[in-house]
Amino acid sequence: MTSLDPHDWKAFRQTAHHALDGIITMLEHVRDQAVWKALPDESQSVFERQMRRFPRPLDEVISDVMRHVAPFGTGNTHPRFMGWVHGAGTPVGIVAEMISAGLNLNCGGRYHVGLVVERQIASWLADLIKYPPTATGLFVTGSSIANFIAIYIALVARLGPDYRSHGHRKVAKKMVAYTSAHGHGCIGRGLEMAGLGSNQLRRIPVDAAGRISLPLLNEAITRDRDNGFDPFLVVATAGSVETGAVDQLDELGAIAAHERLWFHVDGAIGALALLSDKLRPLFRGIEESQSIALDFHKWGHVPYDAGFLMVRNSAANLAAFSNSQSYLQRGERGLASGDVWPCDLGPDLSRGFRALKTWMTFETLGSDAIAKCIDENCSLAAYMARRIEADPLLELKAPVALNIVCFGIRTTKDASAINREIVMNLHEQGIAAPSWTQLGGETVIRCAIFNHRTTRDDVDTVLDAISRLVRHYSSEQEASQ
Ligand SMILES: *Cc1c(COP(=O)(O)O)cnc(C)c1O
Repeated sequence: MTSLDPHDWKAFRQTAHHALDGIITMLEHVRDQAVWKALPDESQSVFERQMRRFPRPLDEVISDVMRHVAPFGTGNTHPRFMGWVHGAGTPVGIVAEMISAGLNLNCGGRYHVGLVVERQIASWLADLIKYPPTATGLFVTGSSIANFIAIYIALVARLGPDYRSHGHRKVAKKMVAYTSAHGHGCIGRGLEMAGLGSNQLRRIPVDAAGRISLPLLNEAITRDRDNGFDPFLVVATAGSVETGAVDQLDELGAIAAHERLWFHVDGAIGALALLSDKLRPLFRGIEESQSIALDFHKWGHVPYDAGFLMVRNSAANLAAFSNSQSYLQRGERGLASGDVWPCDLGPDLSRGFRALKTWMTFETLGSDAIAKCIDENCSLAAYMARRIEADPLLELKAPVALNIVCFGIRTTKDASAINREIVMNLHEQGIAAPSWTQLGGETVIRCAIFNHRTTRDDVDTVLDAISRLVRHYSSEQEASQ
């Protein structure tokens, strides 16, 4: 028998149930674990072996996974993970991933329920953003790729469909794009991958609130036009990775319309905050954009990965990606029917069923609960900022727009080095996982509160630990003087 199915389905079923129990137990008790642990040599060596030729019992393999994989992850399920911008996942997500692995749909195209569920998500988002119902939506790995695809769509929209075959050979003017100095790194890389080069991305300085400076943007556009460049795109940031700042979307939309730029929004962090009535006004004007990148795996807590791209004008999206390969020909009926397939909207052909875990998450929890967690994260960030402002040893390094708090030790001497030490120390002790970023030439501690499990007690625990470390390093510094 050459099939890869188990000989004994009953035994397999038992083992599988056991594995599910194991992972549920782990999540139930995540709070009692260290946020992060370094991988011991013993576990490391499990993944330095030769490929195995002969079978091994599944329960043994699972026991290796529980011992050598499960404890050594990113830590983002833990309530005191505050580093970087990571979603926390949900128990519903576990079940959804399991079911979707069992179904093993290929959502690149054809006529089946996978595409119907994905269109449901796109239509929910169109409602949320206030895009027309004809807007197209596409699951991708994450906003890095969603932003790249949007850059490419904008390029084809400006240069016409011939650009797809000619590439840059027939482009006379140099194309340029704009984003803020706090725009995500993937936007520059998107220009690189699109063949334009990251030098053609103008990084406009930010104002005191961390938002793109509109006067400087206008100046840059005028200067570029005077110098024979062809401005084609502005990428707004709706929730910056540095500080959580949201660009002035309504004003950017007006500038983009006036200058005939494609108006794309990097909503990786912020777009799902539209679910919250309290936060929605921050994003006024988002509905005027031409495209939006966002991540269900961040504030939506859908298990990784679940990035998404919305494009207002379906024709512009199709113009960049639709294809007529013979093996993708459509039928009038049957499995090969349907007009627009996901492979006409982006570069992927084979794609998993990311729509199911997203649909199940929203269907089970309801959007109100997700919105409430987003609001709560922002309240906790505000609470954290208040505590920092009241602490004589610490100071805030940027205004808190949403849920990201940048702060550090108050002294100027060696502040960067001490802030870095504090972060690494907290990781190693397993107490918390903040990260750092550079602001005004200084390395600052950055707590990004995205986890729906985080409470006020967690914030207190993290700040108490940081205060202890600050006192420790300050006295060390004094002793050495
Ligand atoms: C996370 C993030 C990205 C990249 O998204 P991925 O899902 O990690 O690919 C882009 N922009 C911002 C503002 C982000 O926070």
